[in-house]
Amino acid sequence: MKRNFLKASLAGLAFAIVGFTPLANAQDKGLIAISMPTKSSARWIADGANMVKYFKDKGYKTDLQYADDDIPNQLAQIENMVTKGSKVLVIAAIDGTTLSDVLQKAADKGVKVIAYDRLIKGSKNVDYYATFDNFQVGVLQAQSIEAALGLKSGKGPFNIELFGGSPDDNNAFFFYNGAMSVLEPYIKSGKLVVRSKQMGMDKVGTLRWDGAVAQARMDNLLSAYYTKDRVDAVLSPYDGLSIGILSSLKGVGYGSGSQPMPVVSGQDAEVPSVKSILRKEQTSTVFKDTRELAKVTVAMVDAMLSGKTPEVNDTKTYNNGIKVVPSYLLKPVSVDASNWKQVLVDSGYYKESQVK
Ligand code: BGC
Repeated sequence: MKRNFLKASLAGLAFAIVGFTPLANAQDKGLIAISMPTKSSARWIADGANMVKYFKDKGYKTDLQYADDDIPNQLAQIENMVTKGSKVLVIAAIDGTTLSDVLQKAADKGVKVIAYDRLIKGSKNVDYYATFDNFQVGVLQAQSIEAALGLKSGKGPFNIELFGGSPDDNNAFFFYNGAMSVLEPYIKSGKLVVRSKQMGMDKVGTLRWDGAVAQARMDNLLSAYYTKDRVDAVLSPYDGLSIGILSSLKGVGYGSGSQPMPVVSGQDAEVPSVKSILRKEQTSTVFKDTRELAKVTVAMVDAMLSGKTPEVNDTKTYNNGIKVVPSYLLKPVSVDASNWKQVLVDSGYYKESQVK
């Protein structure tokens, strides 16, 4: 009796195991392509890794590719992703205006498209946009400058120089405009002075977000406008640029006893910049939790592929020239020496040993 019971249980177990295999296959919900711009910045590496993990948890396979900041390379990778049968393309574009043809080919095959963090412009074939509140990123950068200089309490005048992101990235304009919404009144009232007079994205943009380009421009600004006067603040839209700007400043003696570092902003809470904040060089950065962005994106894809409507929280802001792309905007958080531990370590984003 006992033996028969054991046999029956074993048979049941075997059935369960055999029966489980097709179930595992049923969990294979298809291939999702993830096209990322570059590995030269840690944030995109984290974005890719997070998405791969969360897609896998939901039963999807992934095809993750990085394009070395090379536009033809990204186009070729996306074409290949479509050929391989991806159901959805998740794309952080290098140049948001270059994808129309390849996205038309994708649409002809019924492939859906999510613009990841950066808006894809000039194409109707963009289904959703997952990003952060990019205008607010700029506001936070400028507010950290405003606070560090004591502008609200009437201090000044101070000298400031402005840096923008890559002019082929729609975000760069949002960051710049957000920052200028805070800084412009002080520039108008004379409490902030841009000695170089270089203002506007056409003058301050930094192609491909290249730190070396920012460093070279800062070198030029310092030698042309700041041999006698000091620069008190630099608006920098991204940590990779901030590090270049800081090296340039150090090169002419800022950051030493009699010549304190100017206030320098940033974005992405990259490790070198967090370390720099702890050394009291960079003033602040803006943390954008890539884990959350990956989760939102995976939920969007899963909803689309299950015939549901993805959750969005903005249907007005992101007009790509052809249509307003329904978006989900996450909240950026300003980080400086006062809250880095709470925001970056207590949230599990970094281990303390990584940034100290
Ligand atoms: C992203 C920023 C990033 C920048 C440079 C932007 O599109 O939103 O987080 O700093 O690209 O990689």
